[in-house]
Amino acid sequence: MTSAFCPAHITCFFSPVHSENILEKGSRGAGIRLRSGTTVHLDEIKGSTKVRIDGKIANASITRHVLEQMAPGRSFDVTVECDLPIGQGFGMSASGAVAAALCLSEITGKSRKEAFEAAHTAEVVCGGGLGDVAGLMHEGDVPIRTRAGMPPFGRTADRGIAFERMTLVVLGRKLSTAGVLGDAERVKRICSAGDAVVDEFSERGTKDRLFELSGRFSAEAGIMGPAVADAVKTMEKNGIRASMCMLGNSIFTDATEEEVRDAIGDRGRIFTTSSTDGPARIIRKA
Ligand code: ATP
Ligand code: MG
Repeated sequence: MTSAFCPAHITCFFSPVHSENILEKGSRGAGIRLRSGTTVHLDEIKGSTKVRIDGKIANASITRHVLEQMAPGRSFDVTVECDLPIGQGFGMSASGAVAAALCLSEITGKSRKEAFEAAHTAEVVCGGGLGDVAGLMHEGDVPIRTRAGMPPFGRTADRGIAFERMTLVVLGRKLSTAGVLGDAERVKRICSAGDAVVDEFSERGTKDRLFELSGRFSAEAGIMGPAVADAVKTMEKNGIRASMCMLGNSIFTDATEEEVRDAIGDRGRIFTTSSTDGPARIIRKA
């Protein structure tokens, strides 16, 4: 069995960038890489490929797309274990894609660069995200994607910010990335809001600015649901800096779980983690 781990990646704000070249396509933006993430175990088998996510057989088109690119015509038994919920802006689709791709690079001898490119391509083609893989490739806690896509097209910057504590509050149903990004009017609003805040943050990137600009982005882009808006407001009134994870019915804050509970009561599910500059990595070789 070959196993790999990849951090999760909160998207704080973003601006989609279109290109015919998938490696140039993606998003500018900023995010937070997390110590929590996804572990993938992979075994080559005879017969057809089987993917299980958190114990359940899944279609897992993103994972299958990665397998097809890295090891065409071969079959695998794939087990995906997620530390955080899917569809809440924690980039779990990308995290799983990178972990699977790293396992396959170990098995096939393909490079780490090819693995990240395959994960990015699968994400873009299947609608899992535009910038998570580029953010995850960066080995710093809070990558700023100043240019979209994978290197050499894509570029990331770092202002040296890290969060010893990240508290995540999940307040509602999944938000499908593909669903939101399929709405052309909304994408237009997201682009203009996103570009402005990315430029501001890359010039002056502090923790306070990250929360402030994330808040401005989600308000201007018009993607905050009522439950998230209400909880963020309540937390801010209690002196807690917090903002919405893109794209989820969820919030990130560096306050403690107790502080969050004091502010918003028993609303939502809470996950506690920290940011990380640790790389996605192989944890077991066959
Ligand atoms: P976001 O992209 O908003 O940060 P997310 O990545 O957790 O959130 P989506 O991108 O909306 O979730 O998920 C897209 C699709 O990818 C869903 O159909 C989901 O079932 C699938 N998916 C999510 N995580 C994984 C994973 N770790 N492995 C395989 N497939 C996944
Ligand atoms: Mg995703």
